Amino acid sequence: MDYKTSNSQKIKVIYILGSGRSGSTLIDIVLGNHPEIESKGELYDIIKKYENNELCSCDTPSQICPFWIDVINRWKEQTKIDDLAFYENLQKKVESLKGLSLLLKNKNNSNINDYIFYTQALYHSISTVSGKNIIVDSSKKPSRALAISMMPNVDLCLIHLVRDGRGVTYSGMKEGKKSLRFPLGWMYNNLLSEIVFYTIGSNKAQIRYEDFVNYPVKTLKLIGEVAGINLSQVSEKLVNKKEIKINHLLAGNRIRNYKTIKLQPDYKWKEKLSYKNQLPFLIFAWPLGIKYGYIGRKTTKK
Ligand SMILES: [Zn+2]
Repeated sequence: MDYKTSNSQKIKVIYILGSGRSGSTLIDIVLGNHPEIESKGELYDIIKKYENNELCSCDTPSQICPFWIDVINRWKEQTKIDDLAFYENLQKKVESLKGLSLLLKNKNNSNINDYIFYTQALYHSISTVSGKNIIVDSSKKPSRALAISMMPNVDLCLIHLVRDGRGVTYSGMKEGKKSLRFPLGWMYNNLLSEIVFYTIGSNKAQIRYEDFVNYPVKTLKLIGEVAGINLSQVSEKLVNKKEIKINHLLAGNRIRNYKTIKLQPDYKWKEKLSYKNQLPFLIFAWPLGIKYGYIGRKTTKK
């Protein structure tokens, strides 16, 4: 399949890159409150969720939700794909570390070409059904960001989102998971994200989740500058605590199922996470911890 033969109109994808539990679904939803932006969560996961008929944020099983039925049908029609497992298999190959290494070396193969073709068509299908030209995808996977940068009919706007690894550890431990895996995963995923961030030339920004929560107007202004869109009306909604709407989200953090969302400061871990459980982050993740200003710099509360 040659993805370069497609001649559809260009759309823009705001792609959120980074490690898990960084608050990407919240930012995704907030951006989707601009009339020209469609918030779509962790899009890498939607085919699996659609096949499993999981619940959309509109409280309807995805195979009954009119939005997703239309998106998937148009996508199938446009790409002539009938076996969704074929695309999932492509994802496994390209979204892996091996896929990332091939993309970084600029080595195309048929899997990468097919992945770009089908994924680009999926973005276009979402754009057609939503009637919006800008889509937010908070999949966070580094190889997907590189693949998007190679799509001829998509303009990539890259946001590398980071959050204090101790906040991430606390969020995971609340669910009964062991503390060690979070700093290791945080370091690994952010390191790969750093490599991809520096490989991709333009239209990009690194932002801290804590800055977004504490200084949303300033942070949204920065994202808007990178994406080439004025986000002041979204800022105004946040500042005046107007309702933040959520549009047909099928994949992402569980907040997608909330009826309303609010921005909250992110310092609970400072009181609740013991020093012993903070230590793995300080030992294993200090290089990036220092780079992002989480270690060795006082984080100012609002
Ligand atoms: Zn829905």
